[in-house]
Parts: sequence; structure tokens; C-alpha cells
Amino acid sequence: MSQGNVVRLPRRRPEKLCPFCGALLPANSRPERIYCSSRCRSAQWRLLRRSRARVAALVRGIESRVRCPECGAIWTSGVERATRAVYCSDRCRVRACRRRKESDEST
Ligand SMILES: [Zn+2]
Ligand SMILES: [Zn+2]
Repeated sequence: MSQGNVVRLPRRRPEKLCPFCGALLPANSRPERIYCSSRCRSAQWRLLRRSRARVAALVRGIESRVRCPECGAIWTSGVERATRAVYCSDRCRVRACRRRKESDEST
């Protein structure tokens, strides 16, 4: 019963890659570190939250398609844009607002 010849393998830390950009994490980074930078971490978090919101909406069956009254673009309410969003972009919102003003002046 001798354990004298047990070969101890050198503990080599496996190389870790940033799950967002695929960059190799620095060798001296802490073991709990997952992302290469805080930028990647927050970017991945936003992506995850968005996809989770989409899945949750689909599961609940409340996914609603909203159409921009200005350009006709369609998006998913509460996922791609805020639930109360009316226009697809600021550009459309401004354009619609300007047109409303113009028609007010002409009358
Ligand atoms: Zn990264
Ligand atoms: Zn639009």
C-alpha cells in the first residue's frame, strides 16, 4: 500500500475563452473570470436578457407585432422596442411629428 509513486500531474489551468468575442482570457486572470472585459460581459448580458424576454413572450403567448405607422417596419413589442413604443425610430417619430405640424399649419 504505497502511494509513493503516484504521479501528480501538474495542474494546468485550462485556457478560457471569452464567450462573447472568443478572445483568450489572460493567463493571470482570476478563475471566476468569464469575460475578457466588462464591455463583453455587459454586451452578453444585454443579448441574454433580450433573448430571454423574447422566449418569455413566446411562452406566454403575448408576443405582439407592432407596425410603425410611419414606415411600416414591424417589431416585437417589449423585445426589440419598449412596449409603449409607437414608431420604429426617432427618425420616424420626428418625421411624423413634423408632418402633423405641417398639416396643422395648412388648415
Ligand atoms: Zn470578450
Ligand atoms: Zn418607422
